Amino acid sequence: MINIEHYKQVKQDLPAHTELCVVSKRRSREDILAYYDLGERLFAENKAQELLTKTDLKDDIRWSFIGHLQRNKVRQILPYVSLIQSLDSLELAEVIEKECTRIDKTVDVLAEFHLAVNDTNKTGLDEADALSFVRACRQFPHLRLTGMMAMGPHTDDEQEIRRVFMHGQELFAALQKECGDTFTTLSMGMSHDYRIACTCGSTMVRIGSYLFED
Ligand SMILES: *Cc1c(COP(=O)(O)O)cnc(C)c1O
Repeated sequence: MINIEHYKQVKQDLPAHTELCVVSKRRSREDILAYYDLGERLFAENKAQELLTKTDLKDDIRWSFIGHLQRNKVRQILPYVSLIQSLDSLELAEVIEKECTRIDKTVDVLAEFHLAVNDTNKTGLDEADALSFVRACRQFPHLRLTGMMAMGPHTDDEQEIRRVFMHGQELFAALQKECGDTFTTLSMGMSHDYRIACTCGSTMVRIGSYLFED
């Protein structure tokens, strides 16, 4: 089921410069098509295997990959993804570059950073490595580093969430200086914290449960 009321709310809440990426993991093909029919074209999955069961749905869906990407899954998903939001190591970048070369494709990627200090499910790059990482990405001609992704902390404390997202915005600005005009995407915000992320400069929110559940 999709939740039209929540969808309308999200569309109303999003600033003009902020894109909605519909997180369709664990959702049926019918539900994805329902959002497609409402005009959505950006969808995201976090598991390679599941993504592959959905890529035949519509040619003009732009699929994002948002989960931890294992290097041995890159070859399978690469033909179908337009944005890999979870680039979290140079080793992964190297494999993506190699596979892109093989199939003659250029792909957009976001560097995923770990911002929340006290979170246990730590994914993403350490921000201390941010500058050296984005510089190192220049050696990969088939990867377009178009921005960064970060998750908020697992808490209901809005102040803490805001603090983390503000920090993300600062890091984004610093990297933008380093990377230039093509570094434009700041992917921050999910169901429970997208409104806060929007006040902190997010240009892309990744929303799943709120769009599909009561
Ligand atoms: C699942 C997921 C989301 C969406 O989370 P919801 O709380 O369902 O909106 C966003 N980003 C990532 C990386 C995810 O894995």
